[in-house]
Amino acid sequence: MRPFVYDHAAQRVIFGIGSIERLADEVSRLGVRRVLILSTPAERRFADDAARRLGSLSAGMFAEAVMHVPIETARAARQRAAELEADGYLTIGGGSTTGLGKAIALESSLPIVAVPTTYAGSEMTSIYGLTEGGIKKTGRDRRVLPAAVLYDPALTLSLPPQISGPSGMNAIAHCVEGLYAEDANPIISLMAAEGIRALARSLPIVVRQPDNLDARSDALYGAWLGGTVLGAVGMAIHHKLCHVLGGSFNLPHAEVHTVILPYATAFNREAAPEAMRLVAGALNASDAAQGLYDLAVQIGAPTSLKEIDMPLDGLDRAATLATANPYYNPRPVDVQSVRQLLQDAYDGRRPS
Ligand code: NAD
Repeated sequence: MRPFVYDHAAQRVIFGIGSIERLADEVSRLGVRRVLILSTPAERRFADDAARRLGSLSAGMFAEAVMHVPIETARAARQRAAELEADGYLTIGGGSTTGLGKAIALESSLPIVAVPTTYAGSEMTSIYGLTEGGIKKTGRDRRVLPAAVLYDPALTLSLPPQISGPSGMNAIAHCVEGLYAEDANPIISLMAAEGIRALARSLPIVVRQPDNLDARSDALYGAWLGGTVLGAVGMAIHHKLCHVLGGSFNLPHAEVHTVILPYATAFNREAAPEAMRLVAGALNASDAAQGLYDLAVQIGAPTSLKEIDMPLDGLDRAATLATANPYYNPRPVDVQSVRQLLQDAYDGRRPS
């Protein structure tokens, strides 16, 4: 066995249908008395419901979160938190909402209770992002790691198939890259393989029957594992490319992950054979990259960059940006091979 370091910050995770009923208890358990509730305008109904459940523990609400945490939004939310003398935050929504909570906690060091309603996984990581002047900067800081996370599959029933599928593939991407991470370790690899298994078996059902609570529970369980993997080990070329394509070409986050994943996996096929074996096994496929592509097709998710409006003449620049300051990757990266990977993803043919 390869030597390894396992360095994992503790978080309290409450998982199950109806776990939202424990919200007030979980907030009190942290000693928080004046919680600021955060959401996007679209998820306001969740925030209103949380306010009712919290009663006097709720100090107020900021329901203006948007994708990629613009610094102006973070400043407005920090100001609201200060005015209300909040001593903790509740984030209820997808990665955009969790990201806003992290941006406030980064300055105040006060605790976050996260209630995720998508499969993005941010609630399990100490990674934060802030966008200033059109450039998104990310960092890691333990102050932003939510102290408690409540996963209630019932809150995901309203997530439409066209968001559920790519969001689930985003979680699978964390698992795939965790298996060939530079700092991979056996415990996180167990979680990664189990995450892929749970999502691969549940997503086809979730998109066909969005109100199937068993499948929703399985998918959210897989998302929890994916987020844990993302928080625990380093990512590689796939995440680097998605960061570049999302940040510099404004492509939608989960959809970019869905499209790139089969091609990034094919790119690393020879360099990470054990990871490929585990991914293929978890997908019940003979090849990892093809299995991921087939899953995307099966759930009706996008399979080409063309489809999600990536400009063809941007591929050169994307390849240059992704290789300028590369993350670790099991196969060394260079502009030419990454340009080819992007071309394959642009065309969207099944990886050979
Ligand atoms: P999101 O929060 O913007 O949600 C995606 C869409 O789903 C939105 O339109 C939202 O209104 C809708 N939605 C959310 N929950 C819903 C529900 N239950 N029912 C109906 N609609 C619902 O995006 P996301 O995909 O969850 O997260 C993406 C963002 O999170 C990106 O900014 C990404 O960079 C960030 N992220 C960060 C980390 C990290 O570790 N820091 C990890 C993953 C993602």
